[in-house]
Amino acid sequence: QARAVSPERQAIIDLSAISKNITALRDIAAPAKLMAVVKADAYGHGVVPVARTAVAAGAQWLGTAHVSEALTLREAGLHVPVLAWLHTPSTDFFAAVAQGIDLGCSGWELEHIAAAARAQERPARIHLKIDTGLGRNGSTMADWDALVAEAIAYQDEGLLRVVGVFSHFAVADEPHRPETDEQLQLFREAVAIAEDAGADLEVRHIANTPATLSRPDSHFDMVRVGLGIYGLSPFADQTSAQLGLIPAMTLQTRVALCKDVPAGQGVSYGLGYVTAGATTLGLIPLGYADGIPRIATGGPVHVNGRSYPVVGRIAMDQMVIDLGPDGRSHFASAEVPGSALGATAVLFGDGADGGPVVEQWAAAAGTLNYEVVTRISPRVPRTYV
Ligand code: PLP
Repeated sequence: QARAVSPERQAIIDLSAISKNITALRDIAAPAKLMAVVKADAYGHGVVPVARTAVAAGAQWLGTAHVSEALTLREAGLHVPVLAWLHTPSTDFFAAVAQGIDLGCSGWELEHIAAAARAQERPARIHLKIDTGLGRNGSTMADWDALVAEAIAYQDEGLLRVVGVFSHFAVADEPHRPETDEQLQLFREAVAIAEDAGADLEVRHIANTPATLSRPDSHFDMVRVGLGIYGLSPFADQTSAQLGLIPAMTLQTRVALCKDVPAGQGVSYGLGYVTAGATTLGLIPLGYADGIPRIATGGPVHVNGRSYPVVGRIAMDQMVIDLGPDGRSHFASAEVPGSALGATAVLFGDGADGGPVVEQWAAAAGTLNYEVVTRISPRVPRTYV
């Protein structure tokens, strides 16, 4: 018998928000197609429900880093085009080809992919990746001509088809920086070299969320959008609402204990926070094992219409908020009158009605919204609405 999920600690995923975000991003990208990037368990939102929602909302492609993630999509019955772009020599290229998964290729993968295609007499579909400046995955410009020639030779043998050329931006979240123009120029050159050599490209693609939003000249045939479909902003100076996006994840729990303490009470490991006067502390049953960064002390927790900062160190399973000297008086309407015990505690959500947003937790932890949502651990049940 399956054990009931604890509803008191949950990441609520609003699939209708994801659907609306896809529609908005498709309108921005059109006529280019939209690839919904669902790697890393859909940035922590749950890969299969998100992928199904994305496809139903009109995403024509799905993208993952690993072949194993792409295979999960096929096992779930999703048969739209899927691209996986990050491999090692142990990657299961055979399964990828068998399942019709498109493969990104920086160079060394070619012979592995060709061998998998030869073994099952089924041509593989590949997207050649050019490093236009990020300095990460992808072929260098110096090696590009040779890579294209090798791929076209395999194509002529009937082992694979070069259907895409792609790249990835380094600083598209900072729209004033000149490197994006330089990357675009190199990308156009790389595409021209591949086409001149005989590649019959279906899709040229380089734009991530920030480029999709700020650089229409980077859309080419397809945009690869991750963060935006989850309703989050890639820009430091623009909110989700300003971009017309709706954050899809709400992380909430319930207050697990509420107690009055005197002045001078140290709170949590290290006793780094000491109460200045008599106050009421609220215990929040989420901690770093749930993916809340340990250094994010000060992050907001919204209870009964007010925001309270986390005080003291965040522990493995729990953290503490200071409800203030008159804390109890705020909770007349909570489950236990005059106490916050059992009250809903929201760490972040869509920001409506002044509620906290994930960017506040990212700021408290010195990181990005990308990392906060992606790291919410499997220990926190996802609830789909
Ligand atoms: N394309 C590639 C190759 C990526 O690695 C990623 C994510 O890091 C994306 C697209 C999506 O980026 P974003 O979440 O900024 O849209």
